[in-house]
Amino acid sequence: MSFINKFGKTTLASSILAASVLGTTHVSFASGSGEGNQGQQGQDEDYMAIGNTKNPKNVIFMVGDGMGKSHTSAYRHFADNPDTKEVEKTSFDKYLIGAHQTHNDDEKENITDSAAAGTALSTGHKSYNGAIGVDTNKNKLKTVLEQAKENGKATGLVSTAEITDATPAVYAAHVDDRGKKDEIAQQFYNDKINGQHKVDVLLGGGAKYFGKDNGNLTDKFQKDGYDYVTNKDELANSQSDQVLGLFSEKDMPLQIDASADEPKLADMQDAALDKLEKNENGFFLMVEGASIDKAAHPNDITGVMSEMSSFDQSFQKAMEYAENHKDTLVVATADHATGGLSMGSGDEYVWKPEAIRNMKHSGSYMTKQIVDGKDPEKVINEGYGIEFPSKQMDKVKDATKALKDAQDKAKSDDDENVAKATTTLQDAIQKPINEASHTGWTTYGHTGEDVDIYAQGPGSEKFRGNIDNTDNAKNIFDFFSGDVTSNQN
Ligand SMILES: [Zn+2]
Repeated sequence: MSFINKFGKTTLASSILAASVLGTTHVSFASGSGEGNQGQQGQDEDYMAIGNTKNPKNVIFMVGDGMGKSHTSAYRHFADNPDTKEVEKTSFDKYLIGAHQTHNDDEKENITDSAAAGTALSTGHKSYNGAIGVDTNKNKLKTVLEQAKENGKATGLVSTAEITDATPAVYAAHVDDRGKKDEIAQQFYNDKINGQHKVDVLLGGGAKYFGKDNGNLTDKFQKDGYDYVTNKDELANSQSDQVLGLFSEKDMPLQIDASADEPKLADMQDAALDKLEKNENGFFLMVEGASIDKAAHPNDITGVMSEMSSFDQSFQKAMEYAENHKDTLVVATADHATGGLSMGSGDEYVWKPEAIRNMKHSGSYMTKQIVDGKDPEKVINEGYGIEFPSKQMDKVKDATKALKDAQDKAKSDDDENVAKATTTLQDAIQKPINEASHTGWTTYGHTGEDVDIYAQGPGSEKFRGNIDNTDNAKNIFDFFSGDVTSNQN
């Protein structure tokens, strides 16, 4: 791994060298198009050729947080048309190009969290769990989004989580601990490149980090020309090229549970692309399907399939965009897998997605409703689309009572006993759907296996085969170092 540290600096020379060391593509600045003159200003040619690879002007980098191989495989069966014998391919299957290794550089843990993995994806350096855009010595690392901004491109971050959450944060903030969300929001506003805000389009949840308690950042962004929007209509009507959209206090709801006035991931991505594509130098956009992970942590299979579907819709739209804009590279991957999800559990060789298709709400949603004081039986009856055994209903009621006791005794918001009682309640709520679908889980945490990469567009061949998570960023740095328009604006 020593060469990563040695060549990880993102100068033009080192990123090309790193690309050569990795044996990805033969690198030279000879034109592959035969049209020549690509260095001249003011001409139409939007890309520069590196070897036989045309440089993408625009990059859409998509992260399905927690989206392991079993999540995409299970989703194939969930999305399958049950009326045909064939198991139809998903949109992901059509663009599968490789996989990457997810291990981090942490003294104690070798299974990554989203912060260390995100830092690898955004900077090309492995770091420790919790690191946001910093190395193992807590030094700042340049990100591909920052490089895009330096090159005069437009930039965007879109997530269904709090926009200060680890995966978006690693692209535009540098803190030693992912928990410092106020600081991350402050850096989104304060840190500038060539006198400009780093991120032109910020869309997601996490309004609590931008309000009165953290220096009225929404006001400050608006004073600097950003639109501030809080629902789907306002987002659709936003006219400014720069926008801050915060659609919930914390994480956004799962797609299956969301109300109609809340934008879906694909709506946010569409809005972001409309704005970013106006920049003639191109853009970098990161789109995160964050709640695949957030539903997999509590082993909520309904929530995971909801968010796989949400991510798939965005993915299809991004691929359509790349088909219509030949200068656009789309890469979609995951940062790690979550939950140890398995298709199949118990003695029978079956996995039954139809049970999940019948559900009306996620397990996470039903749990929150009960935690907030709603009647458990009513919540289950409204949320479940399959039979809920009466014995299990008794267990849910018992777990609800235990949770209330823990809540009464709790001294703080993050009381450990409340957390435990909530997990017990959510497990009780989800047991029937996990059993009916024969879904297995091994952990409430992350797992360490490789994750798939899907790609289309110029440069996509550099993501082929089994690569390292840091190569995702190194490839993008390499593309941006070849920007024709770089430093000309
Ligand atoms: Zn996670």
